[in-house]
Amino acid sequence: METTATAPVRASEVPTWAAEVDVLVIGNGCAGASASIEAARAGAEVLVLDAAGGWGGASAMAGGSLYLGGGTPLQKACGVEDSPEAMHAFLKAATGPDPDEAKLAAYCEGSLEHFDWLVACGVPFVPKLWDQPSWEAPTGYGLMYTGGENAHPFDDLVPPAPRGHIPHMEGKRPGERSAGWTLMRHLVATAERAGVRCRYDTRAERLAVDDGVVVGAQVSAYGERCFVRARRGVVLSAGGFAANGPMLAQHAPRLLGNMLIGTDRDDGRGIRMAQAAGAAVRHMEAAQTSFPADPALLCRSLLLDRHGRRFVNEDTYPGRVGQAALYQQDRQVFLLYDDAVAEEVRQTGGHVPEATWVSDDVAELEESMGIAPDVLAETIAAYNAGAEAGRDPLLHKSARWLRPVAAPYGVLDLRGARFGVFTLGGLHTTPQGEVLDLDGEPVPGLFAAGRTTSGVPAWGYCSGTSLGDATFFGRRAGRSAARRSR
Ligand SMILES: Cc1cc2nc3c(=O)[nH]c(=O)nc-3n(C[C@H](O)[C@H](O)[C@H](O)COP(=O)(O)OP(=O)(O)OC[C@H]3O[C@@H](n4cnc5c(N)ncnc54)[C@H](O)[C@@H]3O)c2cc1C
Repeated sequence: METTATAPVRASEVPTWAAEVDVLVIGNGCAGASASIEAARAGAEVLVLDAAGGWGGASAMAGGSLYLGGGTPLQKACGVEDSPEAMHAFLKAATGPDPDEAKLAAYCEGSLEHFDWLVACGVPFVPKLWDQPSWEAPTGYGLMYTGGENAHPFDDLVPPAPRGHIPHMEGKRPGERSAGWTLMRHLVATAERAGVRCRYDTRAERLAVDDGVVVGAQVSAYGERCFVRARRGVVLSAGGFAANGPMLAQHAPRLLGNMLIGTDRDDGRGIRMAQAAGAAVRHMEAAQTSFPADPALLCRSLLLDRHGRRFVNEDTYPGRVGQAALYQQDRQVFLLYDDAVAEEVRQTGGHVPEATWVSDDVAELEESMGIAPDVLAETIAAYNAGAEAGRDPLLHKSARWLRPVAAPYGVLDLRGARFGVFTLGGLHTTPQGEVLDLDGEPVPGLFAAGRTTSGVPAWGYCSGTSLGDATFFGRRAGRSAARRSR
């Protein structure tokens, strides 16, 4: 964690530059790798540093879903109709409040080209649609719904289209052998072919500044501290801050005590060293929050607040459910299902945990849950009445998942369960990757991408918008840095 000051060092105080390059990229996850490729292709001499012993970061652990659309070849091969306009309308609604309009427009217009770019980097995709609620698609499927496009409230707004594009990974196992690793392997190989140099076990500590212009960074490797000069620009792609307790306490206290989705290098150092050089931040409270139950179980169950009432349609994107449960309900939630639901989930290969309480008697369950009498009974009666008619007048869950529940009921007590989280807030950047200061002016020589920045997932999140946005705007940040005059 924090061991050194973050305030920038003045170039005049740098005793000697240990290395000098055109573009210095800090962090070799998918944002940094994409930045390095495009900077090198634009003719820059590029050095990428990473604090870890190798490339990858959280990107290499990821499920690999990239949020792309507008009619990609993969979508077409799966028979999916889509357009940049539909993608834009969906993302504008799903990633708010306060989505970054300029970034959204660039991202949706450039999505087809970005898919082609990834394919040209060697990233493989299998044209097969996975149409089941789950965090990740099994091996052999390359496309899935990853944002609640086919659920309320978005299905009424814009024709649903799946946009989670998943690189092919033989024999993948979530968290162990992931499609994110395939993505990273091909990006890093492409960077190497473009002449990018990498140094590992090297941590950037603070920026070097010359009269307001970022000209390099102080780095540390094996206890040795030195300075790297960047003639054209520095790209910060050092991930988010979900592993930094004090930063969470300051900006996003609800995330404290949850489970980190990422690496312990998500310590916010990239954000802090830019802030110390005058950079502005956005949406620091925002986070992806994974609901702690199998999506296959969630969509077939009743999710209840602390009073025993439903509060969100359970069939939407489970990260959206997670946000609702964490930010609105303070994680004080219960999940109710019956034997038929449990059996169906098991048959689809899903996971059903042992319920905390099982009973035929709803009054007994209400007492165990510590809620007022009759509330749960009313919730179940209203749900079942709607389900009999194939409708959910309260929350609009799709008829596909509606079925009356019957005794004995199982209730899973999720109060206090830990949600998987990673931060979405970060540096305020332009669609070209320039880091902005508090007056909205670019900090000269400083660029950023990925979870070091606030991007397409401004507040709301859809799976794939992190890898998608990080690679897309990483490329732009790398190009912008390379093109900046010395
Ligand atoms: C299990 C899992 C599944 C996920 N699934 C998906 C998914 O399907 N789709 C999706 O879009 N997102 C997914 N995510 C989230 C996604 O992986 C990350 O948000 C994304 O990879 C961030 O990319 P990045 O390049 O910004 O950061 P990273 O990939 O984390 O790269 C940052 C790099 O910077 C390095 N670094 C940090 N600080 C310093 C420093 N001071 N000096 C030098 N180097 C430094 C780190 O070591 C790291 O290698 C998942 C994450 C996990 C963990």
